[in-house]
Amino acid sequence: MSSEQIVYLNGELLPLDEAKVPVLDRGFIFGDGIYEVVPVYGGRVFRWPHHHARLERSLKKIGIDNPMTADEWTRLVQDLIARHPWTDQFVYLHITRGVAKRDHAFPKGVAPTVFAMSSPLTLPTQAVREAGIDVITLPDVRWLHCDIKSISLLGNVLARQAAADAGALECIQFRDGFMTEGSSSNIWIVRGGQVFGAVPDNRILEGIRVGLMDELCRDAGLALTLRPILREEVLAADEVMVTSATKEILPVARIDGKPVGTGRPGPVYAALYAAYQRAKARHD
Ligand code: PMP
Repeated sequence: MSSEQIVYLNGELLPLDEAKVPVLDRGFIFGDGIYEVVPVYGGRVFRWPHHHARLERSLKKIGIDNPMTADEWTRLVQDLIARHPWTDQFVYLHITRGVAKRDHAFPKGVAPTVFAMSSPLTLPTQAVREAGIDVITLPDVRWLHCDIKSISLLGNVLARQAAADAGALECIQFRDGFMTEGSSSNIWIVRGGQVFGAVPDNRILEGIRVGLMDELCRDAGLALTLRPILREEVLAADEVMVTSATKEILPVARIDGKPVGTGRPGPVYAALYAAYQRAKARHD
C-alpha cells in the first residue's frame, strides 16, 4: 500500500518510500513543528476552512511564517486527495521549522519543512459504536500549551499507551481535579439530557469538532455548555463521548472498568451521531 501512496514534501509529489527528511530537521531533533489532520468524505474535504484556520493559528503561535497561501494549501490538499482512490481519506499536514545546525533558538533564514500525505480513513465500525469504548482516567502531566497542535506529542503518546496497556481505546485526562481531554480527542459528558464540554483554553486542543458539537447540539435540540468539569461529574455522567477527526463521535461504555450510565450508548449519543451524519451529508 505504502508504495502506491503519493506524498508531498517541500514542493514535490513523490512515493511515500522516497520521501526523506534530513536528520537535522528540527521536527526530528526538537519536535519543533505543528500538524493538522483533516477528514475527507466522498472525495470532499470536511470543514477545511476550520482546519486551515487552526493550521494558521498553530504556525503563528510558534513563530513559523506560513509558507503557503490559503489557495496553495487548498490546492495541495486537493491534489493529494485526487491522487488516491479511497472515497474517505484523511489528510495529514506537517510543518517544521526546517533544517538547521542543532541549537535550541530559532535559526534565521531557514525555510520550513512542509510534508503532507493522505491515507484511507477507516471510521469506527457499527459494532464499536453500538458497544461503546473503554477509557481510563489519567492525570494530565502535559505542558500548558495544549492549544497548539504541536508535533511534540510525547505526553499524548504516553497517555495513549497507558490506555492501550489497560485494554482501553482512549483516556480521559484530569488537571487539578478538572477534565481536560483525551490523548487525541475531546471529551463530552451528558447529565440530565444536557451536553457539557471543557472550556477550550490553553489546557486542551480546540478540536474542530468542538465548534461542530455546537451545531450538532442545535440540530438535535440539545443544550450545550462549555465549562470546567469536575472529575466527579465525569464519573457520575449519564453518558460520555469522545470526538476527533478520525473517530467522529464515539460513546464511552466504561471508565476504569466501571459502566457509564447503563453501560450502553445512550439516546444523546444516538441523536448526536445522527446529526453528525447529516452534517457530513450536507458536506459543509
Ligand atoms: N485533542 C487532542 C489532543 C487531539 O490530538 C485531537 C485530534 N486532533 C483532538 C483533541 C480533536 O480534534 P479534532 O476534532 O480537530 O480532530
